[in-house]
Amino acid sequence: MLISKTVKINQTDNRVESVSCGECKGNKNHKILVSAEMAQDEDSCFDYQVIQCLGCNRISFRHALYEYTQYQATSEKIYPDPKQRLPIEGINLLKPYIQSIYKETLKTINNNQVILFGTGIRTILEAITQEQKTPGIDLNEKINNLVKQGLVTQKDVGALHDLRRIGNEATHSITPSSPKEIKVAMDVIEHLLQRIYILPHNVKENLSSPLKNKPNTK
Ligand SMILES: [Zn+2]
Repeated sequence: MLISKTVKINQTDNRVESVSCGECKGNKNHKILVSAEMAQDEDSCFDYQVIQCLGCNRISFRHALYEYTQYQATSEKIYPDPKQRLPIEGINLLKPYIQSIYKETLKTINNNQVILFGTGIRTILEAITQEQKTPGIDLNEKINNLVKQGLVTQKDVGALHDLRRIGNEATHSITPSSPKEIKVAMDVIEHLLQRIYILPHNVKENLSSPLKNKPNTK
């Protein structure tokens, strides 16, 4: 039997389905805002949907396969992939080469390249100390000197040495990082980028405006 390839728009009538959300981390009810359905054979169709999470309002695109006998999709792809780690806000404020290394390191997480991740994290540290002209004969010394430059606190130094160790293990012993290690290491590096490059810019732009620009509260 010839299958009609006619596209049926919005057959889903604001239907709600449980779909994985990258923001809420887990399955959440999503409202199907817009959809376009196209039959595949007598028993199934593809539905192309714009969906919105009812937990965090995030909007995604979903490509789902439905069997006509079942209410829920039998397979799906979601964009952006909810399992992907997304870049932090404000990466355009980083120097282009630091931005590139950061984005490449993020890709190693999203592509499960667990050894290259370690070298990426170490290279970001090297790039920051180079950009900040941090003195020192090696990364070990430079990390300690970041405190003297007032860029990190003494409390942060231990975590940065852990990142250096992860980088060394990846480069010299080809030891992959564990998923937990990767998550925390990336949290630490992102915190460092925010603290050195993004937060000072945001403070200057939004909190340090001249008094004359501020509304008179008297
Ligand atoms: Zn959500």
